[in-house]
Amino acid sequence: MSDGLGPQTLLALIAVVAVIASGPVRAAAPSLELDVDLDPGTRRFHAVAVVAPAARDFRFELHESLQVSAASADGKSVRVVAAGREGPISAWRVQMPTGATRLRLEYGGMLPALDRSLDDRGVLRALPPMASSEGSFLSAASAWYPQPAALFSYRLTVLVPGDQRALVPGRLQSESLPSDGSGRYRASFEFAQPATGIDLMAGPWVVREKIMPRAKGAPVRLRTYFSAELDAIAGLADGYLDDTRRYLELYEQEIGAYPFTEFSVVASPLPTGFGMATLTYIGAEVLKLPFIRATSLGHEVLHNWWGNGVYVDYATGNWSEGLTTFMADYAYKERESGEAARAMRLAWLRDFAAVPAGSSQALASFRSRTHGAAAALGYGKSAMVFVMLRDAIGEDAFRRGVRAFWEEHRFRTASWSDLQAAFEKAAGRSLASFFEQWLDRAGGPAVKIARAGAKTEAGKVRLTLTVEQSAPAYSLRLPLEIVIAGRTEMRSIDVAGPRDVVTMLVDAMPEGVRLDPDLRVWRVLDRAQLPPILRQWVIARAPRWVQASDAGDVREAASALAKRFFEVPPQPTAHDALNKGTEPVMLIGLHADVDRALAHAGLPPRPASLAGRGSAQVWTVARDASPPVAVVSAKDADALQALLTPLPHYGAQSWLVFDGKRALDRGVWPASGPLVAVQSERW
Ligand SMILES: [Zn+2]
Repeated sequence: MSDGLGPQTLLALIAVVAVIASGPVRAAAPSLELDVDLDPGTRRFHAVAVVAPAARDFRFELHESLQVSAASADGKSVRVVAAGREGPISAWRVQMPTGATRLRLEYGGMLPALDRSLDDRGVLRALPPMASSEGSFLSAASAWYPQPAALFSYRLTVLVPGDQRALVPGRLQSESLPSDGSGRYRASFEFAQPATGIDLMAGPWVVREKIMPRAKGAPVRLRTYFSAELDAIAGLADGYLDDTRRYLELYEQEIGAYPFTEFSVVASPLPTGFGMATLTYIGAEVLKLPFIRATSLGHEVLHNWWGNGVYVDYATGNWSEGLTTFMADYAYKERESGEAARAMRLAWLRDFAAVPAGSSQALASFRSRTHGAAAALGYGKSAMVFVMLRDAIGEDAFRRGVRAFWEEHRFRTASWSDLQAAFEKAAGRSLASFFEQWLDRAGGPAVKIARAGAKTEAGKVRLTLTVEQSAPAYSLRLPLEIVIAGRTEMRSIDVAGPRDVVTMLVDAMPEGVRLDPDLRVWRVLDRAQLPPILRQWVIARAPRWVQASDAGDVREAASALAKRFFEVPPQPTAHDALNKGTEPVMLIGLHADVDRALAHAGLPPRPASLAGRGSAQVWTVARDASPPVAVVSAKDADALQALLTPLPHYGAQSWLVFDGKRALDRGVWPASGPLVAVQSERW
């Protein structure tokens, strides 16, 4: 990985001078000054660090590609001693002479080359510091500088070749491209707030800038650091700058003033999606996707409050992903429509339902996203806890809780219990059992109405429900839908035990009742509430498909589509497969042939909501019986052919309407859960 000298040779390079100490140790403010010289083309890195260590016995780490060549404390040489090694990272130790406050370290080496083969899972793991002329990324976790303390402030100057730009989180103090013939780019940054680490990025970027004025406080410098190719895409950089401003204004209003003076959108050669203080580092390919500006950008901007503004106490669980998902991704869905927000809650609950039984963990144990199950927990369940919390204490108290939490913990480490305290204060009541059950218990409750009865009572109707839930029982406020004479009425009921009897008065004899049809409570959904989506077909272990049409060109297009769509090569089968076996089946063909095949198999006809629309329609058949059936129906062979590339990307949908390659409309079948009939009791 590294071409540099091994750390074993380090001691030989260091001038060893014993310094006799005298006088008391002065407690210096933890801080770091760094002068970095990076040549991405040759991957040569050289730096001078001036550290004010938090302790006299100063320990720090450096990546194996970097060696210390000189060390001194207040002008006198000191000895740097090896203190262990973990993988590519070596630990070092310096005993600061008494009275000395500043340690100067000169170090450098040849950094590992940028690993372009990293996929999005790869970049979630710890990366070494990497350099290349197409982009360099020295992540905070890669030990490319000596860190003075857990929280520290820093000043940094970075020097790169003239065709490169470089940055770190913080306020840009100065930058220059001197005309002295050296032609090198120099930029200085300051991070005055306590930081948890420094990520350094460099690349062959074109920089664009807009200044966002603020009524109170300094203006914010908004920038894009894009490759020439990205920068040349009409409106892209401008769009990012304008959207960033919109998000900053939104969250200033909702939470409190943006705590920094810059925000940059930085293009990465890797498929990253990192949010750091004052910037986000996003894969160049990803930046081109339209939904990034609509969702991920807002999410990363918001991390400047949650995560980079208030720090996470990882030992007690990461609350920041859930709160950020709730106030960004989910909030945008709520703004779009109630239906879109419900679809997101359904997606969280569906992901949760897909986590194998027994491998579910308590939310308090979530640290960061490392695998799918962790994401279902740390993003989905965590965001849902905030949905339920707001439902429980009301919009107004929730808002005040958020603002107070920010006010109190700005640039400090905070835990779930700090959040709890802020919301308790805002709500004026204890939320201990709420937080305990959602944070400390794994999984979720499975709740159902075991029995519903009603009888007339003095001109009114008394409705009695028996609600059962799995053990251990949760304290739940459950939305209840009551269907009376064809209309619906919403109430809420409180349950706390394994079997609770709840009664209420209603105006007329109800036909049925339904628990939480809008999915506002975290729980184990029953099958009837998990509408079939295409992903079940995409990932099927032994998928099958049925050819509905006979014409040669249609058969060819259908066959190509089937091969492309499934992850495992599908088995072509006869029509009777639509009612046989348990593995998912897909029916593919032209409209008239598909309609005939569905009728012949006794399956529900083409949904009226799709009929006659676009050039092709795709839908899953919601039914209780096996096997699961999905249908692809097109007006001609070309329309089928057009689905080859786009269709596999729509795994999260139950139905789609295509015009050629373009999805005109799509959605997930509504599934509001079973309507429990109300028994009339006439005694
Ligand atoms: Zn995030």
